[in-house]
Amino acid sequence: MADAKSRNIGAIILLGPPGAGKGTQAKRIGERYGVPQISTGDLLREHVKNETGLGLMAKGIMARGELVPDDLLYDMVAQRLRQPDCEHGFVLDGFPRTAAQAGWLDAFLENEFFDKIGRWLPIVIEIDVDYNQLLRRLTGRRTCPTCGRIYNFYLHPPLVDNVCDLDGSKLFIRTDDREEVIRERLKAYETQTRPVAEYYASKGRLVSVDGNQPVDEVSRTVFESVEAHAAPVSGS
Ligand code: AMP
Repeated sequence: MADAKSRNIGAIILLGPPGAGKGTQAKRIGERYGVPQISTGDLLREHVKNETGLGLMAKGIMARGELVPDDLLYDMVAQRLRQPDCEHGFVLDGFPRTAAQAGWLDAFLENEFFDKIGRWLPIVIEIDVDYNQLLRRLTGRRTCPTCGRIYNFYLHPPLVDNVCDLDGSKLFIRTDDREEVIRERLKAYETQTRPVAEYYASKGRLVSVDGNQPVDEVSRTVFESVEAHAAPVSGS
């Protein structure tokens, strides 16, 4: 994978409804190109777990499947993107989720990343999946608390019921993966995040990928899109 890693992939944004497989694809992009995968959902869950001020404000909102107000997120995202491991690029999973967040991110990347990576226009990949397929994926989702691996009760269960194949931890169901909350999250996607896709489409930066295909096929298409846009790391 030396070739894949010697690219300056810049900012990659994965868009798509909850359950589209953004987390899985973001991890794969991260591993293939040696860049960090940044999930605002994971960062927020960490804040909730640690009972920080942000975590206390976000907890109830997340449990209802609603979006955390834009202003609460910007410091958290900025701090993460300023870490040295983001210098050659990063994958954002779950951010931006509103048109305002997309505008903020464009300004942030232009101000802080233009010199560092020589280019700041993000590659935006939207993963499209049918509604019924999404419901099945979300209600069946089980996560390993130790390594973060994601299983699906219906589609790719672990070898032993509810136990991670890799480290033996007991899998858990996210509190926002209950059906009534799932419907709320899908509604939030349609009303608040769909405009983000339109924002990037209007700037000619949106690539759509069919997320109903098998997961490896989705990855292949995603990698092709990344490689069509990524520049080689200067000097390599
Ligand atoms: P996720 O793991 O990406 O599905 O995010 C879980 C929850 O965290 C969402 O349902 C929201 O409540 C909150 N969240 C994550 N990212 C964002 C964001 N960019 N804007 C607002 N809320 C977010």
